[in-house]
Amino acid sequence: MKIARWAAVLPAALVVPAFLQPVSLAESARPPKARTVVSLTFDDGDVTHLATARMLEKRGVRGTFYVNTDTIGRDLKLNREQLAAIAKGGHEIGGHTLTHVRLTELTRSQQREQICDDRRTLVAWGYRPATLAYPFGSVDADAEAVARQCGYDAARGVGGLKEWGCPTCPGAEKPRPADRYDIRTPGSVREDTLLRQMRQQVLNAEKTGGLVTMVFHRVCDGCGVYSVSPRTLDGFLGWLVSRKAHGTVVKTLQDAVGARYRPVPGQ
Ligand SMILES: [Zn+2]
Repeated sequence: MKIARWAAVLPAALVVPAFLQPVSLAESARPPKARTVVSLTFDDGDVTHLATARMLEKRGVRGTFYVNTDTIGRDLKLNREQLAAIAKGGHEIGGHTLTHVRLTELTRSQQREQICDDRRTLVAWGYRPATLAYPFGSVDADAEAVARQCGYDAARGVGGLKEWGCPTCPGAEKPRPADRYDIRTPGSVREDTLLRQMRQQVLNAEKTGGLVTMVFHRVCDGCGVYSVSPRTLDGFLGWLVSRKAHGTVVKTLQDAVGARYRPVPGQ
């Protein structure tokens, strides 16, 4: 009693600061530890991606945009200024080869040209690309080795995680993927992918924790098989940010796997 009364008259300045309080008290004030990381990736430098980047920013999240430097500025593609505007918004810019080729059909030297020269161009444009996405998710041991030689620290495939087409696949990548040069994902989001299927891919990952990388292409209404409507994407984003209460956070793929920038060899 005596102590309590004495405490009640302590001046505010003597109140114990948070960092000196017992750990249990400080812990209870924090959100749950992040167990599931969602990466939102957008392929091919589509002209719709500048508006997409702004949509993500409004939701307080950042994405990864994979571009083919040889097609930048062409019809229906981003131009250099638009790409710069996306990067300025805090998003990751990654490589996707010069001309969007199926790497497994190329010789090793052709693979090197497609991956290294694309990355060199991104570097010349002022970016620090740390991750690559294989066009069509087409990858073999040679392509992985070349991605590494070209200075990439990680690379994304397509497929290998649980989805409607692969019910027995794991729901998430490990926080440290077993093969960081072929990071697995659910299949690409398509025009007929339902919002609840996208949500389900995150819920599948939350069962074990880990990394789930979503693969998007065009973001527009009725603009092809590999597209998602802006309304569906925004609905997904709104739901996704609410999963923070369940320990789920959104990160660029680079941040999700801790990929570091390395100069292109020979540059
Ligand atoms: Zn692509």
